[in-house]
Amino acid sequence: MQYPINEVFETIQGEGFFTGVPAIFVRLQGCPVGCSWCDTKQTWEQLDANKVMPEQVIQVDGTIGRWAQHDANSLIEAFESKKFNAKHIVITGGEPCIFDLTALTHELIAKGFTVQIETSGTFDVLVHPDTWVTVSPKINMKGGYPVKPSALIRANEIKHPIATQSQLDELDTLLTDIDVSEKVMCLQPISQKARATEFAMSVCIERNWRLSIQTHKYLNID
Ligand code: SF4
Repeated sequence: MQYPINEVFETIQGEGFFTGVPAIFVRLQGCPVGCSWCDTKQTWEQLDANKVMPEQVIQVDGTIGRWAQHDANSLIEAFESKKFNAKHIVITGGEPCIFDLTALTHELIAKGFTVQIETSGTFDVLVHPDTWVTVSPKINMKGGYPVKPSALIRANEIKHPIATQSQLDELDTLLTDIDVSEKVMCLQPISQKARATEFAMSVCIERNWRLSIQTHKYLNID
């Protein structure tokens, strides 16, 4: 199965459970969720399924064309040609779960990679059972897609940007009927502001949750 890929790059996972792990990021094209503060708006446009992509724009490095169609094998070839070393793959977007990721995650796991996806939780999560699913719930966004209980239930990790009590209340409301006892729960201070960090720290200590710091922002890397 082919997927529209916006870019691939190798870096260090900067946040959440896998912080510090070398990772290949695979950014899929397409997102209807509509977060006003989105920093990857270039991924919003969705591929017209009937449109045949001309051969000359099929590139994976994002420098020619807006996206490229790839399956797991051609992605792995791209990783090899770029001499990537990481064994952990982060599938992100865009919103990766607008696609059925079963084939992609199965093939990558079969080739020996560990696979993580990062999703807004607004679509069903269709992946290999061993995929690590990180849900960063996007609540009441412009696109009008509610966060799905099925995505929250499937999540291995729930990572929530936070600065205020009302944002915490919003998260608690969302999780009312979800058993989080087996999940990694992370709060991430919004914008590295001191107040947000202090608030997130106090809640993490009180609840025995994790503090997720966006280390890539301090390191000034992608
Ligand atoms: Fe941007 Fe992610 Fe929100 Fe989509 S879900 S609009 S890619 S932040």
